Amino acid sequence: MRKNIVAGNWKMNTTIPEGIELAKAVVAKSAEVPSDVKLIVATPFTHLYPVAQVLEGTAVSLSAENCADKEKGAYTGEVAANMLVSAGCEYTLLGHSERRQYYGETDAKLVEKTKIALANGLKVILCVGENLEEREADKHFEVCKTQTESVLYNFTAEDMKNIVIAYEPVWAIGTGKTATAEQAQEIHAYIRKVVADKFGAQVADDMTILYGGSCKPSNAKELFAQPDIDGGLIGGAALSADDFIQIALSF
Ligand code: PEP
Repeated sequence: MRKNIVAGNWKMNTTIPEGIELAKAVVAKSAEVPSDVKLIVATPFTHLYPVAQVLEGTAVSLSAENCADKEKGAYTGEVAANMLVSAGCEYTLLGHSERRQYYGETDAKLVEKTKIALANGLKVILCVGENLEEREADKHFEVCKTQTESVLYNFTAEDMKNIVIAYEPVWAIGTGKTATAEQAQEIHAYIRKVVADKFGAQVADDMTILYGGSCKPSNAKELFAQPDIDGGLIGGAALSADDFIQIALSF
């Protein structure tokens, strides 16, 4: 079933004590959020275990921001899927544009990462989205199609139950520029069609597709009112528990 999700991506922000305080504040306010809206916080690796202790027994789920493309072994600096599970993660983000842009994350690597994450019982939030140049060249549909197909067409309809897509136009991430609700809706509907072309209408209809890119309390309502937008992946605004919860109250 399609879920409403609001996921916070803390990126490389907060010390561990600050992260624990932020998680506590999110938990304290989460009682205001209707139970059909799933809250997730994605934290830096160092914060996962202590934040998991704060989230234990609450309705807020924990996500990593990345996951290794190998199971285990001599891969210095990497963090494996089973380590994330043992730290308390239910989800991992994969393919965030900052990872694609600064760390050379390719669709081929994302296939491996998604395989390993799913095999270890993690749910995956796969990020796709065009950059400004691609948007200005009117290539946004093509880019989102290629990114979605190159990764997800390697999986089964059963796997798709454990995958969420986040459409994040790169030009809207951390820039204060949000895609209009119409711009976001047309791409979300298109991505859903790309999913339907391979997996059928039912899988596509059940797929949760989030919008990300300068989503905040002032624009979340209009975005979430669109028929193909099932929630948000929130960067900057997720560093304030008040704003994060306000966004989750925008359905
Ligand atoms: C993100 O990093 O996933 C994101 C959407 O960031 P922001 O909300 O700050 O644009």
